Amino acid sequence: MSVLEQTLSQKAIALENEYGAHNYHPLPVVLNRGEGVHVWDVEGKQYYDFLSAYSAVNQGHCHPRIVDAMTQQAKTLTLTSRAFHNDMLGKYEKFACEFFGFDKLLPMNTGAEAVETALKICRRWAYEKKGIGENEAEIIVCDNNFHGRTTTIISFSNDPVARKNFGPYTKGFVKIAYDNLEALEKAITTSKNVAGFLVEPIQGEAGVYVPSEGYLAKAKALCEKHNVLFIADEVQTGIARTGKLLAVDHENVKPDILILGKALSGGAYPVSAVLANDSIMEVITPGSHGSTFGGNPVAAAVAMAALSVIKDEKLAENAERLGEIFRSELTTYIQTSSIAKLVRGKGLLNAIVINDSEESNTAWNICLKLRDNGLLAKPTHGNIIRFAPPLVMNEAQLRDCVSIIISTLKEFE
Ligand SMILES: *Cc1c(COP(=O)(O)O)cnc(C)c1O
Repeated sequence: MSVLEQTLSQKAIALENEYGAHNYHPLPVVLNRGEGVHVWDVEGKQYYDFLSAYSAVNQGHCHPRIVDAMTQQAKTLTLTSRAFHNDMLGKYEKFACEFFGFDKLLPMNTGAEAVETALKICRRWAYEKKGIGENEAEIIVCDNNFHGRTTTIISFSNDPVARKNFGPYTKGFVKIAYDNLEALEKAITTSKNVAGFLVEPIQGEAGVYVPSEGYLAKAKALCEKHNVLFIADEVQTGIARTGKLLAVDHENVKPDILILGKALSGGAYPVSAVLANDSIMEVITPGSHGSTFGGNPVAAAVAMAALSVIKDEKLAENAERLGEIFRSELTTYIQTSSIAKLVRGKGLLNAIVINDSEESNTAWNICLKLRDNGLLAKPTHGNIIRFAPPLVMNEAQLRDCVSIIISTLKEFE
């Protein structure tokens, strides 16, 4: 097809292919507008967004309160760096500390940076508070984790695609099976140098693996008993996604270090944060860590608005209620389905497992069909499709989406 005959979508995709690094494999759809639970492509077709930018857009696309907070602040003051104070950062830190119940917040921009920050805090704490010998600290992580893309973080990933030819890898991490308390106890008790346990309360990227009931609470108790920091990566699961403000709230666990990102910004602007109490956060001293953009006034304004929306619009409660309906409808369908094997999740973080191998194209083809039928979702790990709509969805919309998903799956029976 010549350039002149290309559709707007094809042109946009061709530009990305020609000038952009090929570090993603997007579903072929080109979006140029979003509002609430919907996005539109450049040809004007409307879709339900069932990915929500990997749970960054929990508050819905272009939420007016978040956009207003952002544009007002953008017209006033955008960046001072931390070389000077600004009048928004302290307000935001107080707001967020009270919101989540911690003494202190350290502001960063992306999820991966916040994870890096948590690891650095944990290591310092190990040397300065726990008394572990210099350079001996170990942090326990889980198989099939996803914590971001930096060199250190991929060092303890077991995804071959994320790691290949990016070595040498950072040392100091011990990998154990997820959702396995014996493995955790063994790892904690066989070494005197364990400083922390980094865990996703639900493994999102791995395919929405929900651990056994009681796992998080018992893991926290083990950490407490052995003076090991429990570090919760709630970048994807946090901010109401799973039906509670945090996924650890389902088991009344209070992490020693809490990592937030994604929906902390309502999808408007990169904002991430690490929260901890003073006895831990005080290991961070001037000059020991930082970021030019971390804690900028726009981020502060956006994050306060994003959190206020979660609370005022009762989005955790909504996610809890709609998630029950989603799983119950899909579970009923699956009983007689040959294409879908299983539905799992919490709140509005769910996935279905497709009855085909990880290497097959079936899940990808289903996502293409879902797109044609007006709903956007993406496979994770070959044969799993994650379903994570914005939390501002209402019940009628959810039921509409369930019927799109089921009728699409039926095309593959
Ligand atoms: C997305 C994600 C990250 C990384 O966040 P980025 O903003 O992409 O760097 C870290 N941890 C978890 C659990 C995530 O889902």
